Amino acid sequence: MQGKGCEMKSSPMVCPNCGTVLDVCAYQAMLVISCDLALFTVECPKCNTIASSIKPIPGQLQEEVHLAAREVGAGMGCE
Ligand SMILES: [Zn+2]
Repeated sequence: MQGKGCEMKSSPMVCPNCGTVLDVCAYQAMLVISCDLALFTVECPKCNTIASSIKPIPGQLQEEVHLAAREVGAGMGCE
């Protein structure tokens, strides 16, 4: 179950329907909650169930998040 270099520090996100481990890096939507936590919406590649779960933001996505935050001028509360 190796993702594309996506580190999973906590328990992985799994499909509530079939139990497939979902890669949060392949998210359909990401709602940032804090500088390292986000609500991910991921579609299961096997059964197409849409799953949502709050997970730590992987390091490779944090750069994106911080850039996006800077663009909209939003304070992320984590200077
Ligand atoms: Zn599934």
